[in-house]
Amino acid sequence: MHRMRAACHLCGDVNVDAADVEVGGHSSATPSYSFRCPRCGCGIQRPLERPAALLLLAAGARDLDAPDRVGHEAVPTGALDENEVDRFSSLLDCDAAVAASMRRLVAELQD
Ligand SMILES: [Zn+2]
Repeated sequence: MHRMRAACHLCGDVNVDAADVEVGGHSSATPSYSFRCPRCGCGIQRPLERPAALLLLAAGARDLDAPDRVGHEAVPTGALDENEVDRFSSLLDCDAAVAASMRRLVAELQD
């Protein structure tokens, strides 16, 4: 299994299995990759160059643009799809993200 080095904003460099990385928008001008930090559990998303996106996919990263995923995202309106739930729970797992959201919310309430 291919391992890659990626940067977590809390932990610095961490090693991630390519299979645990998701690549989106690789056919667009603005591809990105995302993964869950194996150390702190934060969800990380970063932009990357198109060639790097294709390399990641070749190494075994999951393709968010694959037809089954695209079909999956066309879920009836109003329902949270699996990706949204994943994104939401990854934010909950990340103390820093929760703290930042709470600060933003408190700031909005004080305005
Ligand atoms: Zn981390």
